[in-house]
Amino acid sequence: YGSVVAVSGLNLVVEKGEAICLLGANGAGKTTTLYALAGTILPTTGTVRIFGKDARKEFVSIAGRIGFLPEKPAFFDFLTARENLIMAARLARKDITVDKALDRVGLLHVANAKVKTFSLGMRQRLGLAQAILTEPDLLILDEPFTGLDPECTTEMLKMLRSFVDIAKVTIVFSSHLLHEVETLADRVAVLNHGRLLACDQIHSVLAYDSSEVDVLVDSPAAAANRLASQPWVERVSEEPNLIRVRLKDATTHQLIVFLMSQGFVLLGVIPRRRTLRDYLMKVCNT
Ligand code: ATP
Repeated sequence: YGSVVAVSGLNLVVEKGEAICLLGANGAGKTTTLYALAGTILPTTGTVRIFGKDARKEFVSIAGRIGFLPEKPAFFDFLTARENLIMAARLARKDITVDKALDRVGLLHVANAKVKTFSLGMRQRLGLAQAILTEPDLLILDEPFTGLDPECTTEMLKMLRSFVDIAKVTIVFSSHLLHEVETLADRVAVLNHGRLLACDQIHSVLAYDSSEVDVLVDSPAAAANRLASQPWVERVSEEPNLIRVRLKDATTHQLIVFLMSQGFVLLGVIPRRRTLRDYLMKVCNT
């Protein structure tokens, strides 16, 4: 953008039937990347290939197979939700029943209401309905869950995940809502100042960390005290109703045997699952 280099040297391949999330701080370049993919802006240099085709040269044939949700979806406010989608269907030159999309996002009951009366979340739902209207092969979604209530978020996550799993739709999206990312993404790509910092499968990001264990025990304070003096324990902290133990040179099995040999009653031993937040902190601070 003029003298601002928003994205640089980004090289990313997304497979068919994969959901990938672009993560990163405000201004990292996520929206710019999504807009370049959707053809809304043209990159100064570099190439976007979609369905194996050069997106700049063959945009018309590609565009019909893409659904796009921008950060702030715009509508004709004086038209109803249904009329807006009919317009979108006509622009896409497709003979589509728009009510299916309205129903999927939970807006069928307000199909005849003018968009100017819609709340933020309702506009976002309508944006999603517009993105999925043509049943595209590729969905490009910028912050799809912003403004949605928890019930709608759950429904949208279920719907989008089923598109990926059943119809092999590809989804490229951005989000700051880490729980939603954990649920929808197969892979996450972290951007920082327009560059790709890391890209990993979500199952490896969210793996269990067997060296950090939450222990539910009958006498947490006494157990924490006893563990603190063991050389194989790196750290122990008392949390409400449990103790959190970081092991140095020991397995969870050793920890269990030790506590039982000391006469404690174990109510549960849970290896800690890494979170996306842990991953981001690590990636962004190294
Ligand atoms: P956010 O999480 O806040 O949505 P983002 O990762 O989507 O951020 P971008 O919107 O892609 O980030 O912005 C990347 C960089 O490009 C930022 O430095 C931003 O200020 C700049 N930028 C974005 N749009 C424009 C524009 N239209 N004109 C000039 N600079 C822009």
